[in-house]
Amino acid sequence: MLKAVLFDLDDTLIDWSGFGRRWESRERALLQGVYDYVTTNIHPLEDFNQFATNFVDTTRSAWENGRSSLRAPHLGRVLLQALEISGVPVDHLDERRCLEAYNWDAAEGVVVFPDVPPLLQLLRENGIRFGIVTNAYQPMWMRDRELKTFELLDYFPECRFSAADAGYLKPHPAIFEKALQCLGTSPEETVFIGDNPVADIAGAQAVGMLTVLRVTHPTPPMLSGLIVPDHALNSYDELPDVLDNWYPGWR
Ligand SMILES: [Mg+2]
Repeated sequence: MLKAVLFDLDDTLIDWSGFGRRWESRERALLQGVYDYVTTNIHPLEDFNQFATNFVDTTRSAWENGRSSLRAPHLGRVLLQALEISGVPVDHLDERRCLEAYNWDAAEGVVVFPDVPPLLQLLRENGIRFGIVTNAYQPMWMRDRELKTFELLDYFPECRFSAADAGYLKPHPAIFEKALQCLGTSPEETVFIGDNPVADIAGAQAVGMLTVLRVTHPTPPMLSGLIVPDHALNSYDELPDVLDNWYPGWR
């Protein structure tokens, strides 16, 4: 019987297509907060641009390592490392304070997919539990701010996992297993929904879950048919019928 549904976050529940190519300016604004905090309270940083460059380089190498090892990068560690490279004595730094100064929240232009709230409502009415498993390198408490802004947090009172907290990136099984443990459900009782064939679909299938590929804007190729989701859809309006097929009587 169906007991739970696990969701990826980005481009599965929230739609980044309206964000455009504004990542660099957004990131500079977030880094400015850290720069100001550290310069005022810890150690004068002379050159913002050099700090920003150090941060970008450190982030890139953390993600390169993460992609090959599936050990998750962590924004807090990256920030501290970039600050250390920029000449700040690292033993004077508090990771949590630096992350708070980074002041992450919902990005301009990002919205909840309009078919998400009705789906969550229907699943909730039928006693289905939910969780989120995201490959974010921010700790989950930072992504929670967005969930709150998007009025999604109430649907996910527990079982929200970011890769940074879990220590592993999808498709590593450890992050899926943590989520299942939190929900208290078996893989057979849990469906995974995500937009990334490798991280979401192959990862969740490997631990024994049925998977739904959320097809939105450009989706990575299916690796010549090696990765085949159990179902693919453009709209969550189709999902209840799919679940009827897999778990007759769930609603
Ligand atoms: Mg995604």
